[in-house]
Amino acid sequence: MTVLIAGNNPASEYYTSSIIRRGEKLGYTVHLSRFDSDVSQETVLAKIDQLNSDDSVHAIMIQKPLPEQINPERIALAISPDKDVDALHPVNTGKLFLNQPGFYPCTAEAVIELLKFYEIETQGKKVVVIGRSAVIGKPVAGLLLHKSVFGNATVTICHSSTRRLEEVVRGADIVIAAIGRAGFVTSAMVHAGAVIIDVGVNQVDDSVKGTVYVGDVDYESCLSVSSAITPVPGGVGTVTTAVLMRHVLTAFLNFSAT
Ligand code: NAP
Repeated sequence: MTVLIAGNNPASEYYTSSIIRRGEKLGYTVHLSRFDSDVSQETVLAKIDQLNSDDSVHAIMIQKPLPEQINPERIALAISPDKDVDALHPVNTGKLFLNQPGFYPCTAEAVIELLKFYEIETQGKKVVVIGRSAVIGKPVAGLLLHKSVFGNATVTICHSSTRRLEEVVRGADIVIAAIGRAGFVTSAMVHAGAVIIDVGVNQVDDSVKGTVYVGDVDYESCLSVSSAITPVPGGVGTVTTAVLMRHVLTAFLNFSAT
C-alpha cells in the first residue's frame, strides 16, 4: 500500500501514522510518498501514474486535504479504480449506487459494519442522514438503499437547506450525523429509542482537558434517550480504519486472482 501525503496537515499526519501502524501490524508493506505543500499537480499525477503501473503496489490512498493548487477531482480520476481503496474514483462511486462490487468510501461502509455487528435492523426503518458529502452522507444513504439485509431502509438526507430539520430527525428510527459541527444533534431532536451513529470528528478547546475531539452529537444528553449510540472517539473512526485495511487486502487478492 502507498499513502500519498502532501503538506503537513496535523490531522492527516495523525491518520497516516495510524494507517501505517495498523497496516504493519497486519503484515502489509506500507510506503509513504511525501510531498511538500507547494508540490505541483503534475508531480502528484506523475507519481500516481507510476503507482498505478507498479505491480508491487496494490492499494493507493491519497490523504486529504490536498494543497489548494491541486484539484482533488483530477487526482481522483487519475487513480486506478482497482487500487482506489479509499473510493475516490467516480467508477467506484457509480458501483456503490448500482450495488456492484467495488471500493466504497470507508467511513460509509464502517457505519454499515457497526449496524451489522450490533444486529441493528435497517429493513423498512426510517433513517435520517444529516450531511450530503460525497465521502459520507451520500454513500451511506446509497448503501442503506441497497436491496440487501442491511439495506432496504427508507432514507432521508438532510443538509444546510433542509427546512424543519429537527422535525425530520425526530421521525427517524436511525440517525446518522455527518455534519462537522460539535454537539449539533441534541436529545430534543431524536425520538426515544432511536439509534444514533455519530460520524463527526470535531476539535474543540476544553478549559480543563485542552484540545479534545467530540462528535456531531451531544453524547451526554442523547445517551439516555437512544437505544444505541456510538461514542467519539472510539466509534465510527476506529471501524473506518479497519474497513480501509480490508480494502487493501481485497485489492491484493483481486490483483493476485488476475
Ligand atoms: P462536509 O463535506 O463538510 O459535509 C458536511 C455536511 O453537513 C454538508 O452536506 C452540509 O450541508 C451539512 N451541514 C452543515 N451544517 C449543517 C446544518 N446546520 N444543518 C444541516 N446540515 C448541515 O463534511 P464531511 O467530510 O462529510 O464530514 C462530516 C464529519 O465527519 C466531520 O466532522 C468530519 O471530521 C467527520 N469525518 C469522520 C470520519 C470518520 O472516520 N469517523 C471520516 C471522515 C470525516 P451542505 O451540503 O448544504 O453544505
